[in-house]
Amino acid sequence: MAEFDVIIIGAGPGGYVSAIRCAQLGLKTAVVEGRETLGGTCLNVGCIPSKALLHASHALHDAETNFEKMGLMGAKPKVDWAKMLAYKDEVIGQNTKGIEFLFKKNKITWLKGWGSIPEPGKVKVGDEVHAAKNIVIATGSEPLHLPGVTVDEKVIVTSTGALELPKIPKSMVVIGAGVIGLELGSVYARLGSEVTVVEYLDTITPGMDGEVAKTFQRLLKRQGLDFVLGAAVQSAEVKKGKATVSYKLRKDDSAATLEADCVLVATGRGPYTDGLGLAEIGVEMEKRGQIKTDSHWQTNIKGIYAIGDAITGPMLAHKAEDEGMAVAEVIAGKHGHVNYDVIPGVIYTTPEVATVGRTEESLKEEGRAYKVGKFAFMGNGRAKAVFQGDGFVKILADKETDRVLGAHIIGPSAGELIHEICVGMEFGASAEDIALTCHAHPTFSEAVREAALACGDGPIHS
Ligand SMILES: Cc1cc2nc3c(=O)[nH]c(=O)nc-3n(C[C@H](O)[C@H](O)[C@H](O)COP(=O)(O)OP(=O)(O)OC[C@H]3O[C@@H](n4cnc5c(N)ncnc54)[C@H](O)[C@@H]3O)c2cc1C
Repeated sequence: MAEFDVIIIGAGPGGYVSAIRCAQLGLKTAVVEGRETLGGTCLNVGCIPSKALLHASHALHDAETNFEKMGLMGAKPKVDWAKMLAYKDEVIGQNTKGIEFLFKKNKITWLKGWGSIPEPGKVKVGDEVHAAKNIVIATGSEPLHLPGVTVDEKVIVTSTGALELPKIPKSMVVIGAGVIGLELGSVYARLGSEVTVVEYLDTITPGMDGEVAKTFQRLLKRQGLDFVLGAAVQSAEVKKGKATVSYKLRKDDSAATLEADCVLVATGRGPYTDGLGLAEIGVEMEKRGQIKTDSHWQTNIKGIYAIGDAITGPMLAHKAEDEGMAVAEVIAGKHGHVNYDVIPGVIYTTPEVATVGRTEESLKEEGRAYKVGKFAFMGNGRAKAVFQGDGFVKILADKETDRVLGAHIIGPSAGELIHEICVGMEFGASAEDIALTCHAHPTFSEAVREAALACGDGPIHS
């Protein structure tokens, strides 16, 4: 029986990052992974492949709409779908092999197969049982299913099927206007599909700053996406390769149907803990199926920890990574910490949407006095030069102290710009601190500075 200081179950961003940090801290580390490749949902069927398709479809859109304006003439590119999928697979391969390389470099053992925990301190993989002083569960999540809608991963697909459709569908219904549905819906809309998004709530991207959500919906509409909001999907049926989605509008209970070549079910994800044997060893669970942990990611059983999508909190790769690093520090007897108040969220559409910290809605609800500094990308020279003047930066700061409480950006490179705010928030920055920091010209970042200026005496370029 092999013995390890730590065995991590699951090699997604939570698990593999945790393993690398454990190894760096001198712990003898193994990772159990049942998939053929490392990297979990994120690298295989999540963040990375979706971003590859987003990038390719944005490039197409740019060529179709902006090239001529810049004097770049020539035939418009045609889509070779098989080649685009091959590009996406190549990107996945490069990334998953990169993790294998890092495992070797850090002397991390990959125990190939599906793991379970027969008793505390033991992990079973296939017929072999391995001993571990500490076990970290990082088994991630799986797509949630909707009653009345049976996924076949051909016509009715989850995000996994949507990343490898045999051909670009003429029409697509996306059920759920969350991040995954909108990212993949916008990919197919750019590739020529007629995309209709059906959402139960009256707004897209629930929980997001309301003003950003409204602007985002308007811009997506302009790109050709249709929206049916406040609609409860009742069923989806496939006949002769075509799907019929039936829904009822919540406001008046009226029923309607939509036909499509493909239906993407993007109604969220739930924790995946199947086959681990957690009930048998008495691991406590949350009501919604996540593993219950304390503030050090330890379960109710000493020496068994859990991180990432399998526990509560935002289902994001970087949240899983941060927990992975922090739990490694805790296991090594150091201080592991994750600041859950400063976890950015990004939607990688064009324009991108990025958000961190408090929304106006939540500040109002709390009754906290705040001020808003806003700046539109229309006033940013760089954004106009690259046809990306849509959107704005909005910074929320405490009315009395000027401390930055949150930021919401819709516009070019929003997913990069947000990190200036994140660093500022980690250091307890005021909006004035950001406003007084010299920002290079011409950059999109100047819009962040202008929004910070708008929290004080006012921006320059509006
Ligand atoms: C289409 C899509 C796009 C996304 N885009 C983004 C994005 O842009 N940014 C972002 O931050 N997040 C994104 N996410 C979410 C992100 O992928 C997850 O939050 C992240 O992967 C969670 O990491 P994790 O380590 O907790 O679990 P996972 O990445 O799910 O990894 C868990 C791993 O554990 C393995 N496993 C499970 N059970 C066992 C077992 N018993 N034995 C052995 N192995 C096991 C699984 O095979 C899997 O490889 C996206 C998700 C999807 C589906």
